[in-house]
Amino acid sequence: MTQLDLQALQALDAAHHLHPFNDNAALAKKGTRILVRGEGCYVWDAHGNKLLDAFAGLWCVNVGYGRKELGEVASRQMTQLAYYNSFFQCTTEPTVHLSAKLAELTPGDLNHAFFTNSGSEANDTILRMVRHFWAVQDQPQKQIVIGRHNGYHGSTVAGASLGGMKGMHAQGGLPIPGIVHIDPPFWFADGGDLSPEEYGLVAARRLEQKIIELGPENVAAFIGEPIMGAIGVYIPPRTYWPEIERICRKYDVLFIADEVICGFGRTGEWFAGQYYGFQADIMAIAKGLSSGYIPIGAVMFNDRVAKVLAEKGGELAHGYTYSGHPVCAAVALENIRILQEEKIVEQCKNDTGPYLAQRWQELGDHPLVGEVRIAGMVGALELVPNKRERKFFAERGKVGVMCRDFALKRGLILRATYDSMLLSPPLVISRDQIDELVVKTRGALDDTARELGM
Ligand SMILES: *Cc1c(COP(=O)(O)O)cnc(C)c1O
Repeated sequence: MTQLDLQALQALDAAHHLHPFNDNAALAKKGTRILVRGEGCYVWDAHGNKLLDAFAGLWCVNVGYGRKELGEVASRQMTQLAYYNSFFQCTTEPTVHLSAKLAELTPGDLNHAFFTNSGSEANDTILRMVRHFWAVQDQPQKQIVIGRHNGYHGSTVAGASLGGMKGMHAQGGLPIPGIVHIDPPFWFADGGDLSPEEYGLVAARRLEQKIIELGPENVAAFIGEPIMGAIGVYIPPRTYWPEIERICRKYDVLFIADEVICGFGRTGEWFAGQYYGFQADIMAIAKGLSSGYIPIGAVMFNDRVAKVLAEKGGELAHGYTYSGHPVCAAVALENIRILQEEKIVEQCKNDTGPYLAQRWQELGDHPLVGEVRIAGMVGALELVPNKRERKFFAERGKVGVMCRDFALKRGLILRATYDSMLLSPPLVISRDQIDELVVKTRGALDDTARELGM
Protein backbone atom coordinates (compact mmCIF):
# COMPACT_ATOMS: atom_id res chain seq x y z
CA MET A 1 0.00 0.00 0.00
CA THR A 2 1.39 3.42 -0.88
CA GLN A 3 1.58 6.19 1.70
CA LEU A 4 -1.18 8.02 -0.17
CA ASP A 5 -3.53 5.03 -0.18
CA LEU A 6 -2.93 4.59 3.52
CA GLN A 7 -3.64 8.23 4.33
CA ALA A 8 -6.82 8.11 2.26
CA LEU A 9 -7.98 5.00 4.13
CA GLN A 10 -7.21 6.60 7.47
CA ALA A 11 -9.16 9.70 6.48
CA LEU A 12 -12.17 7.60 5.47
CA ASP A 13 -11.92 5.66 8.70
CA ALA A 14 -11.83 8.86 10.75
CA ALA A 15 -14.84 10.23 8.87
CA HIS A 16 -17.07 7.17 8.91
CA HIS A 17 -16.05 4.50 11.39
CA LEU A 18 -16.75 4.61 15.11
CA HIS A 19 -14.26 2.25 16.80
CA PRO A 20 -15.23 0.16 19.85
CA PHE A 21 -13.56 1.08 23.18
CA ASN A 22 -11.77 4.06 21.71
CA ASP A 23 -11.40 7.79 22.16
CA ASN A 24 -12.39 8.41 18.56
CA ALA A 25 -11.42 12.08 18.49
CA ALA A 26 -7.89 11.22 19.58
CA LEU A 27 -7.70 8.34 17.12
CA ALA A 28 -8.82 10.53 14.22
CA LYS A 29 -5.83 12.79 14.80
CA LYS A 30 -3.36 9.95 15.10
CA GLY A 31 -4.64 7.73 12.26
CA THR A 32 -5.76 4.10 12.58
CA ARG A 33 -3.26 1.29 12.31
CA ILE A 34 -4.48 -0.86 9.44
CA LEU A 35 -3.59 -4.55 9.47
CA VAL A 36 -3.37 -6.29 6.14
CA ARG A 37 -2.14 -9.86 6.59
CA GLY A 38 -1.52 -12.60 9.13
CA GLU A 39 0.50 -15.81 9.23
CA GLY A 40 1.04 -17.99 12.29
CA CYS A 41 1.85 -15.67 15.21
CA TYR A 42 2.60 -12.62 13.06
CA VAL A 43 0.53 -9.86 11.49
CA TRP A 44 1.62 -7.22 9.02
CA ASP A 45 0.41 -3.62 9.04
CA ALA A 46 -0.11 -1.33 6.08
CA HIS A 47 3.37 0.17 6.56
CA GLY A 48 4.80 -3.30 5.98
CA ASN A 49 5.81 -3.78 9.64
CA LYS A 50 5.88 -7.40 10.76
CA LEU A 51 4.51 -7.67 14.29
CA LEU A 52 4.61 -10.61 16.70
CA ASP A 53 1.06 -10.73 18.03
CA ALA A 54 1.44 -11.62 21.70
CA PHE A 55 -2.25 -10.94 22.21
CA ALA A 56 -3.75 -13.32 19.60
CA GLY A 57 -5.87 -10.53 18.13
CA LEU A 58 -8.16 -10.13 21.12
CA TRP A 59 -7.47 -13.31 23.10
CA CYS A 60 -8.92 -15.35 20.28
CA VAL A 61 -6.64 -16.50 17.43
CA ASN A 62 -5.72 -19.73 19.21
CA VAL A 63 -4.65 -21.69 16.12
CA GLY A 64 -2.75 -18.72 14.68
CA TYR A 65 -3.38 -16.72 11.51
CA GLY A 66 -3.56 -17.96 7.95
CA ARG A 67 -5.00 -21.46 8.42
CA LYS A 68 -6.33 -22.14 4.94
CA GLU A 69 -8.50 -25.10 6.04
CA LEU A 70 -10.77 -22.72 7.91
CA GLY A 71 -11.37 -20.59 4.84
CA GLU A 72 -11.89 -23.66 2.69
CA VAL A 73 -14.48 -25.10 5.05
CA ALA A 74 -16.32 -21.77 5.11
CA SER A 75 -16.27 -21.60 1.33
CA ARG A 76 -17.60 -25.16 0.96
CA GLN A 77 -20.40 -24.59 3.45
CA MET A 78 -21.36 -21.27 1.84
CA THR A 79 -21.57 -22.91 -1.52
CA GLN A 80 -23.60 -25.85 -0.30
CA LEU A 81 -25.94 -24.09 2.13
CA ALA A 82 -24.97 -20.56 3.12
CA TYR A 83 -27.69 -20.09 5.64
CA TYR A 84 -30.55 -21.70 7.34
CA ASN A 85 -31.99 -20.95 10.74
CA SER A 86 -32.56 -23.13 13.77
CA PHE A 87 -36.01 -21.65 14.43
CA PHE A 88 -39.22 -23.38 13.27
CA GLN A 89 -38.07 -26.87 14.23
CA CYS A 90 -35.21 -26.80 11.71
CA THR A 91 -31.45 -26.77 11.81
CA THR A 92 -28.38 -27.65 9.71
CA GLU A 93 -25.84 -30.46 9.81
CA PRO A 94 -22.80 -28.53 11.05
CA THR A 95 -24.90 -27.03 13.83
CA VAL A 96 -25.89 -30.47 15.11
CA HIS A 97 -22.35 -31.79 14.84
CA LEU A 98 -20.97 -28.79 16.70
CA SER A 99 -23.41 -29.13 19.59
CA ALA A 100 -22.51 -32.82 19.95
CA LYS A 101 -18.80 -32.03 19.72
CA LEU A 102 -19.07 -29.37 22.40
CA ALA A 103 -21.03 -31.70 24.66
CA GLU A 104 -18.18 -34.18 24.34
CA LEU A 105 -15.38 -31.63 24.86
CA THR A 106 -16.73 -29.58 27.75
CA PRO A 107 -16.31 -30.99 31.27
CA GLY A 108 -18.94 -32.93 33.20
CA ASP A 109 -22.53 -32.86 32.06
CA LEU A 110 -22.46 -29.60 30.13
CA ASN A 111 -24.21 -31.52 27.39
CA HIS A 112 -26.40 -28.84 25.82
CA ALA A 113 -25.60 -25.88 23.59
CA PHE A 114 -27.41 -22.69 22.68
CA PHE A 115 -25.64 -20.79 19.90
CA THR A 116 -24.94 -17.07 19.71
CA ASN A 117 -22.73 -14.78 17.63
CA SER A 118 -20.50 -13.61 20.46
CA GLY A 119 -19.54 -13.87 24.09
CA SER A 120 -21.71 -10.90 24.97
CA GLU A 121 -24.75 -12.58 23.48
CA ALA A 122 -23.93 -15.79 25.32
CA ASN A 123 -24.01 -13.92 28.64
CA ASP A 124 -27.14 -12.04 27.61
CA THR A 125 -28.76 -15.39 26.93
CA ILE A 126 -27.55 -16.79 30.25
CA LEU A 127 -29.15 -13.97 32.24
CA ARG A 128 -32.55 -14.75 30.76
CA MET A 129 -32.01 -18.49 31.00
CA VAL A 130 -31.17 -18.57 34.71
CA ARG A 131 -34.06 -16.32 35.67
CA HIS A 132 -36.42 -18.41 33.60
CA PHE A 133 -34.98 -21.58 35.17
CA TRP A 134 -36.03 -20.47 38.66
CA ALA A 135 -39.28 -18.82 37.59
CA VAL A 136 -40.68 -22.02 36.09
CA GLN A 137 -39.84 -23.84 39.33
CA ASP A 138 -42.13 -21.51 41.27
CA GLN A 139 -39.30 -19.32 42.50
CA PRO A 140 -39.84 -16.11 40.50
CA GLN A 141 -38.15 -14.07 43.25
CA LYS A 142 -34.89 -16.03 42.84
CA GLN A 143 -33.50 -13.75 40.16
CA ILE A 144 -30.49 -11.77 41.41
CA VAL A 145 -27.21 -12.57 39.67
CA ILE A 146 -23.96 -11.85 41.49
CA GLY A 147 -20.95 -10.80 39.41
CA ARG A 148 -17.70 -9.12 40.38
CA HIS A 149 -16.41 -5.56 40.29
CA ASN A 150 -14.08 -5.16 37.32
CA GLY A 151 -15.32 -8.38 35.75
CA TYR A 152 -15.86 -8.39 31.99
CA HIS A 153 -18.74 -10.26 30.41
CA GLY A 154 -19.20 -8.30 27.20
CA SER A 155 -20.78 -5.13 25.92
CA THR A 156 -24.47 -5.82 25.45
CA VAL A 157 -26.79 -4.37 28.08
CA ALA A 158 -26.87 -7.61 30.07
CA GLY A 159 -23.19 -8.42 29.43
CA ALA A 160 -22.01 -5.02 30.61
CA SER A 161 -24.36 -5.20 33.61
CA LEU A 162 -23.07 -8.62 34.67
CA GLY A 163 -19.58 -7.22 34.26
CA GLY A 164 -18.30 -4.77 36.82
CA MET A 165 -16.59 -2.09 34.75
CA LYS A 166 -17.54 1.29 36.23
CA GLY A 167 -16.73 3.16 33.03
CA MET A 168 -19.17 0.97 31.11
CA HIS A 169 -21.88 1.27 33.76
CA ALA A 170 -21.61 5.04 33.54
CA GLN A 171 -22.71 5.03 29.91
CA GLY A 172 -26.33 4.03 29.39
CA GLY A 173 -27.62 3.66 32.91
CA LEU A 174 -26.22 0.25 33.89
CA PRO A 175 -26.30 -2.15 35.57
CA ILE A 176 -29.90 -3.18 34.94
CA PRO A 177 -31.83 -4.20 38.08
CA GLY A 178 -31.17 -7.45 39.89
CA ILE A 179 -27.42 -7.61 39.33
CA VAL A 180 -24.94 -7.00 42.17
CA HIS A 181 -21.17 -7.26 42.40
CA ILE A 182 -18.62 -8.46 44.93
CA ASP A 183 -14.91 -7.62 45.02
CA PRO A 184 -12.69 -9.65 42.69
CA PRO A 185 -9.84 -11.89 43.83
CA PHE A 186 -6.73 -9.76 43.26
CA TRP A 187 -4.08 -10.69 45.79
CA PHE A 188 -1.53 -8.13 44.53
CA ALA A 189 -3.67 -5.14 45.52
CA ASP A 190 -5.96 -6.68 48.09
CA GLY A 191 -4.22 -9.62 49.73
CA GLY A 192 -2.51 -7.70 52.55
CA ASP A 193 -0.42 -10.01 54.71
CA LEU A 194 -2.33 -13.15 53.75
CA SER A 195 -0.70 -15.84 51.65
CA PRO A 196 -2.34 -16.12 48.22
CA GLU A 197 -3.95 -19.43 49.29
CA GLU A 198 -5.43 -17.93 52.47
CA TYR A 199 -6.55 -14.90 50.51
CA GLY A 200 -8.27 -17.07 47.88
CA LEU A 201 -10.63 -18.39 50.55
CA VAL A 202 -11.26 -14.93 51.99
CA ALA A 203 -12.07 -13.55 48.53
CA ALA A 204 -14.40 -16.47 47.73
CA ARG A 205 -16.29 -16.08 51.01
CA ARG A 206 -17.37 -12.62 49.90
CA LEU A 207 -19.80 -14.55 47.75
CA GLU A 208 -21.19 -16.35 50.77
CA GLN A 209 -21.59 -13.08 52.68
CA LYS A 210 -23.40 -11.52 49.74
CA ILE A 211 -25.74 -14.50 49.31
CA ILE A 212 -26.63 -14.43 53.01
CA GLU A 213 -27.15 -10.66 52.89
CA LEU A 214 -29.50 -10.94 49.89
CA GLY A 215 -31.16 -14.16 51.04
CA PRO A 216 -30.35 -17.36 49.11
CA GLU A 217 -34.00 -17.56 48.04
CA ASN A 218 -33.39 -14.39 45.99
CA VAL A 219 -30.10 -15.34 44.33
CA ALA A 220 -30.32 -17.07 40.96
CA ALA A 221 -26.68 -17.40 40.00
CA PHE A 222 -23.08 -16.34 40.34
CA ILE A 223 -21.02 -15.47 37.25
CA GLY A 224 -17.25 -15.11 36.97
CA GLU A 225 -14.35 -15.32 34.55
CA PRO A 226 -12.07 -18.11 35.86
CA ILE A 227 -9.17 -15.77 35.07
CA MET A 228 -10.22 -12.13 34.84
CA GLY A 229 -8.94 -11.03 31.45
CA ALA A 230 -9.82 -7.51 30.43
CA ILE A 231 -9.10 -5.91 33.81
CA GLY A 232 -5.51 -7.17 33.73
CA VAL A 233 -5.28 -10.97 33.84
CA TYR A 234 -6.06 -11.52 37.51
CA ILE A 235 -5.25 -15.18 38.15
CA PRO A 236 -6.97 -16.26 41.36
CA PRO A 237 -5.15 -18.48 43.87
CA ARG A 238 -5.85 -22.22 43.59
CA THR A 239 -8.14 -22.11 46.62
CA TYR A 240 -10.61 -19.62 45.14
CA TRP A 241 -12.69 -21.62 42.67
CA PRO A 242 -13.31 -24.78 44.69
CA GLU A 243 -14.59 -22.56 47.51
CA ILE A 244 -16.83 -20.62 45.10
CA GLU A 245 -18.23 -23.91 43.84
CA ARG A 246 -18.86 -25.15 47.40
CA ILE A 247 -20.74 -21.95 48.23
CA CYS A 248 -22.88 -22.11 45.09
CA ARG A 249 -23.84 -25.71 45.89
CA LYS A 250 -24.59 -24.96 49.53
CA TYR A 251 -27.10 -22.22 48.70
CA ASP A 252 -28.36 -23.74 45.43
CA VAL A 253 -27.12 -20.83 43.35
CA LEU A 254 -26.30 -21.66 39.72
CA PHE A 255 -22.59 -21.45 38.98
CA ILE A 256 -21.80 -19.74 35.67
CA ALA A 257 -18.25 -19.80 34.33
CA ASP A 258 -17.50 -17.26 31.62
CA GLU A 259 -14.88 -19.25 29.71
CA VAL A 260 -14.85 -16.91 26.71
CA ILE A 261 -11.09 -16.33 27.12
CA CYS A 262 -10.06 -19.48 28.99
CA GLY A 263 -11.92 -21.99 26.81
CA PHE A 264 -10.18 -23.91 24.03
CA GLY A 265 -6.76 -24.29 25.54
CA ARG A 266 -5.76 -20.92 26.90
CA THR A 267 -4.72 -22.29 30.30
CA GLY A 268 -3.12 -25.43 28.88
CA GLU A 269 -6.35 -27.32 29.59
CA TRP A 270 -9.33 -27.30 27.28
CA PHE A 271 -11.30 -25.30 29.86
CA ALA A 272 -10.33 -23.45 33.02
CA GLY A 273 -12.72 -25.67 34.96
CA GLN A 274 -10.19 -28.43 34.39
CA TYR A 275 -7.28 -26.14 35.27
CA TYR A 276 -8.83 -25.14 38.61
CA GLY A 277 -10.86 -28.27 39.24
CA PHE A 278 -14.40 -26.94 39.27
CA GLN A 279 -17.61 -27.93 37.54
CA ALA A 280 -19.88 -25.12 36.37
CA ASP A 281 -23.61 -25.48 35.71
CA ILE A 282 -23.49 -23.08 32.78
CA MET A 283 -20.60 -21.92 30.65
CA ALA A 284 -20.19 -19.08 28.15
CA ILE A 285 -17.81 -19.70 25.26
CA ALA A 286 -16.77 -17.70 22.17
CA LYS A 287 -13.35 -16.37 21.02
CA GLY A 288 -11.21 -19.56 20.84
CA LEU A 289 -14.26 -21.56 19.70
CA SER A 290 -13.53 -20.37 16.15
CA SER A 291 -10.06 -18.93 16.85
CA GLY A 292 -11.66 -15.63 15.88
CA TYR A 293 -11.99 -16.66 12.22
CA ILE A 294 -15.74 -16.13 12.28
CA PRO A 295 -18.15 -14.78 14.91
CA ILE A 296 -19.67 -17.51 17.03
CA GLY A 297 -20.36 -18.09 20.71
CA ALA A 298 -22.40 -20.52 22.76
CA VAL A 299 -23.98 -21.19 26.10
CA MET A 300 -23.26 -24.68 27.40
CA PHE A 301 -25.57 -25.87 30.14
CA ASN A 302 -25.87 -29.02 32.20
CA ASP A 303 -28.45 -31.80 32.35
CA ARG A 304 -30.23 -30.27 35.35
CA VAL A 305 -30.85 -26.97 33.57
CA ALA A 306 -31.75 -28.78 30.35
CA LYS A 307 -34.27 -30.98 32.15
CA VAL A 308 -36.04 -28.04 33.78
CA LEU A 309 -36.14 -26.12 30.51
CA ALA A 310 -37.47 -29.17 28.68
CA GLU A 311 -40.08 -30.24 31.22
CA LYS A 312 -41.25 -26.91 32.57
CA GLY A 313 -39.77 -24.19 30.39
CA GLY A 314 -42.29 -24.19 27.56
CA GLU A 315 -41.30 -22.31 24.45
CA LEU A 316 -37.96 -20.55 24.84
CA ALA A 317 -38.75 -16.99 23.78
CA HIS A 318 -35.20 -16.21 22.78
CA GLY A 319 -33.02 -16.59 19.69
CA TYR A 320 -30.88 -14.88 17.10
CA THR A 321 -31.24 -14.99 13.33
CA TYR A 322 -27.74 -16.41 13.25
CA SER A 323 -28.00 -18.84 16.21
CA GLY A 324 -26.21 -21.93 14.97
CA HIS A 325 -25.25 -20.40 11.63
CA PRO A 326 -24.03 -23.28 9.44
CA VAL A 327 -20.94 -21.50 8.14
CA CYS A 328 -19.88 -20.44 11.64
CA ALA A 329 -20.56 -23.93 12.98
CA ALA A 330 -18.53 -25.53 10.18
CA VAL A 331 -15.59 -23.21 10.87
CA ALA A 332 -15.77 -23.88 14.63
CA LEU A 333 -15.78 -27.63 13.99
CA GLU A 334 -12.75 -27.35 11.75
CA ASN A 335 -10.98 -25.19 14.33
CA ILE A 336 -11.63 -27.84 16.99
CA ARG A 337 -10.39 -30.53 14.63
CA ILE A 338 -7.12 -28.60 14.17
CA LEU A 339 -6.72 -28.11 17.93
CA GLN A 340 -7.33 -31.81 18.56
CA GLU A 341 -5.45 -33.43 15.69
CA GLU A 342 -2.38 -31.24 16.07
CA LYS A 343 -2.50 -31.72 19.84
CA ILE A 344 -2.12 -27.98 20.29
CA VAL A 345 -3.60 -27.88 23.79
CA GLU A 346 -1.41 -30.77 24.97
CA GLN A 347 1.64 -29.06 23.51
CA CYS A 348 0.80 -25.91 25.49
CA LYS A 349 0.33 -27.91 28.65
CA ASN A 350 3.45 -30.03 28.39
CA ASP A 351 5.96 -28.03 26.40
CA THR A 352 5.46 -24.46 25.22
CA GLY A 353 3.30 -23.41 28.20
CA PRO A 354 5.88 -24.35 30.84
CA TYR A 355 8.59 -22.79 28.68
CA LEU A 356 6.63 -19.55 28.32
CA ALA A 357 6.00 -19.53 32.09
CA GLN A 358 9.70 -19.95 32.81
CA ARG A 359 10.79 -17.22 30.41
CA TRP A 360 7.98 -14.83 31.42
CA GLN A 361 8.89 -15.30 35.11
CA GLU A 362 12.44 -14.19 34.28
CA LEU A 363 11.07 -10.73 33.56
CA GLY A 364 10.22 -10.51 37.26
CA ASP A 365 13.79 -9.35 37.93
CA HIS A 366 13.17 -6.13 36.01
CA PRO A 367 13.02 -2.98 38.19
CA LEU A 368 9.60 -2.03 36.76
CA VAL A 369 7.93 -5.39 37.38
CA GLY A 370 6.10 -5.77 40.69
CA GLU A 371 4.34 -9.05 39.94
CA VAL A 372 4.47 -11.69 37.23
CA ARG A 373 1.27 -13.59 36.52
CA ILE A 374 0.96 -16.59 34.22
CA ALA A 375 -1.31 -19.60 33.71
CA GLY A 376 -0.70 -21.65 30.60
CA MET A 377 -0.73 -19.17 27.73
CA VAL A 378 -2.23 -16.18 29.51
CA GLY A 379 -0.35 -13.81 31.75
CA ALA A 380 0.60 -10.30 32.79
CA LEU A 381 3.35 -8.14 34.18
CA GLU A 382 2.27 -5.63 36.79
CA LEU A 383 4.39 -2.49 36.38
CA VAL A 384 5.03 -0.57 39.59
CA PRO A 385 6.94 2.49 40.79
CA ASN A 386 8.65 0.58 43.59
CA LYS A 387 9.39 -3.10 43.31
CA ARG A 388 9.43 -3.62 47.07
CA GLU A 389 5.82 -2.48 47.54
CA ARG A 390 2.59 -3.91 46.15
CA LYS A 391 1.39 -0.47 45.08
CA PHE A 392 0.27 1.02 41.76
CA PHE A 393 1.57 4.15 40.06
CA ALA A 394 -0.15 7.30 41.36
CA GLU A 395 -1.48 8.03 37.88
CA ARG A 396 -2.60 4.63 36.67
CA GLY A 397 -2.27 3.67 33.02
CA LYS A 398 0.33 6.11 31.74
CA VAL A 399 3.29 3.77 32.09
CA GLY A 400 1.37 0.82 30.66
CA VAL A 401 0.59 2.74 27.48
CA MET A 402 4.20 3.88 27.26
CA CYS A 403 5.46 0.31 27.50
CA ARG A 404 2.88 -0.92 25.00
CA ASP A 405 4.00 1.73 22.48
CA PHE A 406 7.68 0.87 22.98
CA ALA A 407 6.85 -2.80 22.41
CA LEU A 408 5.10 -1.91 19.17
CA LYS A 409 8.19 -0.02 17.97
CA ARG A 410 10.12 -3.23 18.53
CA GLY A 411 7.60 -5.25 16.52
CA LEU A 412 5.63 -6.76 19.40
CA ILE A 413 1.93 -6.39 20.12
CA LEU A 414 1.22 -6.39 23.87
CA ARG A 415 -1.90 -4.99 25.42
CA ALA A 416 -1.95 -2.72 28.47
CA THR A 417 -4.78 -2.41 31.00
CA TYR A 418 -3.76 0.35 33.40
CA ASP A 419 -0.15 -0.68 34.08
CA SER A 420 -0.59 -4.41 33.57
CA MET A 421 1.07 -5.66 30.40
CA LEU A 422 -1.13 -8.47 29.11
CA LEU A 423 0.01 -11.62 27.36
CA SER A 424 -2.17 -14.04 25.40
CA PRO A 425 -0.33 -15.31 22.32
CA PRO A 426 -1.65 -17.76 19.74
CA LEU A 427 -1.42 -21.25 21.24
CA VAL A 428 0.81 -22.32 18.34
CA ILE A 429 3.65 -20.04 19.43
CA SER A 430 6.99 -21.84 19.17
CA ARG A 431 9.91 -21.80 21.60
CA ASP A 432 11.87 -19.52 19.25
CA GLN A 433 8.95 -17.13 19.07
CA ILE A 434 8.64 -17.21 22.86
CA ASP A 435 12.31 -16.18 23.02
CA GLU A 436 11.62 -13.33 20.61
CA LEU A 437 8.60 -12.29 22.68
CA VAL A 438 10.59 -12.20 25.92
CA VAL A 439 13.54 -10.33 24.41
CA LYS A 440 11.25 -7.70 22.92
CA THR A 441 9.24 -7.37 26.11
CA ARG A 442 12.43 -6.83 28.10
CA GLY A 443 13.51 -4.25 25.54
CA ALA A 444 10.22 -2.41 25.93
CA LEU A 445 10.56 -2.53 29.73
CA ASP A 446 14.09 -1.09 29.44
CA ASP A 447 12.86 1.66 27.10
CA THR A 448 10.10 2.49 29.55
CA ALA A 449 12.44 2.56 32.56
CA ARG A 450 14.80 4.86 30.66
CA GLU A 451 11.97 7.20 29.71
CA LEU A 452 10.93 7.33 33.38
CA GLY A 453 14.51 8.06 34.44
CA MET A 454 14.68 4.89 36.54
C1 LIG B 1 -14.47 -10.94 25.13
C2 LIG B 1 -15.23 -11.41 26.31
C3 LIG B 1 -16.63 -11.42 26.32
C4 LIG B 1 -17.44 -10.82 25.21
O1 LIG B 1 -17.31 -11.49 24.04
P1 LIG B 1 -17.68 -10.72 22.66
O2 LIG B 1 -17.52 -11.79 21.63
O3 LIG B 1 -16.72 -9.59 22.53
O4 LIG B 1 -19.06 -10.25 22.78
C5 LIG B 1 -17.28 -11.98 27.39
N1 LIG B 1 -16.60 -12.48 28.41
C6 LIG B 1 -15.26 -12.48 28.46
C7 LIG B 1 -14.56 -13.09 29.62
C8 LIG B 1 -14.53 -11.91 27.42
O5 LIG B 1 -13.21 -11.84 27.48
